Amino acid sequence: MYVLSCNDIYEMEKEVKSIYGISETILMENAGAALFNFIKKTADKNSKMLILAGPGNNGGDGFVLMRHLRVNGYNADLYYPVNDNKYNKTAQTNLNILNNLNIPLYDLSTLNNIDNYNIIIDALFGIGLKRNLSGIYKDIIEKVNQTNALKIAVDISSGLVSDSSEAAECVFNADYTISFSTLKYCHTLYPAKKYSGNIITTNISIPDNIISQYKHDIFIDEYNKPALKKRPADSHKGTFGKVTLIGGNVEMAGAVKIAAVSAMHSGCGLITLCHPNTLDRNFISDIPEIMTKSFDYNEPALICDFINHSSTVYTIGNGMGRSKAVKDFILHILKNTLKPVIIDADAINALSLNELNNIQSEAVITPHLAEFARLINKDINEVKKDKVKLAKEFADKYNIYLILKSAETIIAVPNDKVYILNTGNTALSKGGSGDALCGLAASLFAQGYSLKNTCILAAYILGKSAEKAVEKNNPAYLCITQIIDYYNEVFNEF
Ligand code: ATP
Ligand code: MG
Repeated sequence: MYVLSCNDIYEMEKEVKSIYGISETILMENAGAALFNFIKKTADKNSKMLILAGPGNNGGDGFVLMRHLRVNGYNADLYYPVNDNKYNKTAQTNLNILNNLNIPLYDLSTLNNIDNYNIIIDALFGIGLKRNLSGIYKDIIEKVNQTNALKIAVDISSGLVSDSSEAAECVFNADYTISFSTLKYCHTLYPAKKYSGNIITTNISIPDNIISQYKHDIFIDEYNKPALKKRPADSHKGTFGKVTLIGGNVEMAGAVKIAAVSAMHSGCGLITLCHPNTLDRNFISDIPEIMTKSFDYNEPALICDFINHSSTVYTIGNGMGRSKAVKDFILHILKNTLKPVIIDADAINALSLNELNNIQSEAVITPHLAEFARLINKDINEVKKDKVKLAKEFADKYNIYLILKSAETIIAVPNDKVYILNTGNTALSKGGSGDALCGLAASLFAQGYSLKNTCILAAYILGKSAEKAVEKNNPAYLCITQIIDYYNEVFNEF
């Protein structure tokens, strides 16, 4: 699914008009009709509906919807700013049609019986809104949000800014959003996403091959996820690659162990866990499938040799700690190995921007927002505001694949696009989920997936496994090793 910026959507709408003759009239009619079709499928015919139509084009979509509802015998009222609007020709025509049909319409300032409605449709503001709601609009949305009515947003919830992840203090809290043509960034990024409810994207006559010509990012869901590779019958363990995991210390031995278990249950052929010699190898003796190799912080060259000669891919950082010895060890390994690497946790902590240029091999880095903010020397609030842009800039500048973790996952592929996933849930908001992601990614890469598909599939499989787990368990109860057990169901569903 495409995600476009507000300006690109405007450009695209201009182009389809000038080149294909798909006018604004057609687009607005299709938008209103799509809303009507959704309501017809979703709502009880006796529902009392309220359409809030704003002062611009979003209001025009509301007028078209009103016409469809009324001519089909639905019970709907429409309120709009009678004396304070800027309707273009198309919206005005649709308003005139309602008047010609003698359908009574009311002024927004007279709206006072909001609790009488079962369904409220927010056609106040769309992608043109660039600032917070104020005045009458703010008052109305605050009241609407307190009702129990089913709430439907037209294109985006009023109060959201199309290209932004941010959510102002007052935003229409939709149960459903009917999004036209493409997704907008506010539908996919937290906290804005929380106000969109279930999002249904509907085609209003702009073909996909035209949308795809505009600069866009991609939202990944079950319909466009990469395919899983078949496991050939004549395979052997070498077919599925060798993963080396470097991590652990006495205080945090669990992190790299979780990464190992995650790799073990996601298809790679062989796993070696490299741990400092201060850690007794028995910490992993309950998982007989995993080989171990201990190291001395002062002899990183031995581990470099092992990676260069005996690994398809390696991970570094899980539960290693932050001492100088650890940091030097990590930097030596990154500088002197040629195999692709997944950089996580304390290996991210060990790096500064300059040192990224010393990494010799293809690399994926998997910070959460705070780790990313530290790495790029920015305040975390700045990162939260501009996550997609900063992710893209980072991946392009350093030629590193970035998996930026938070409630959504943002994957920036160098000189390509950003891929956004909303899979997963709060069962993953616990220590260890990041370690599982790291091991899963290494295991997938070892099996021959491209780095791009490795990143996308790792985030998808982990998130979907959490969703499967939550169908049967409370998210508060679940822990990461239980979620890993659901990889099985997710693999089976591909
Ligand atoms: P670790 O404790 O293993 O180091 P981490 O801090 O590195 O974890 P997190 O930010 O906890 O990493 O994220 C781990 C994974 O869980 C990521 O893939 C992230 O997207 C996912 N995740 C965490 N919380 C949520 C949530 N509320 N909804 C969806 N996914 C989530
Ligand atoms: Mg982590």
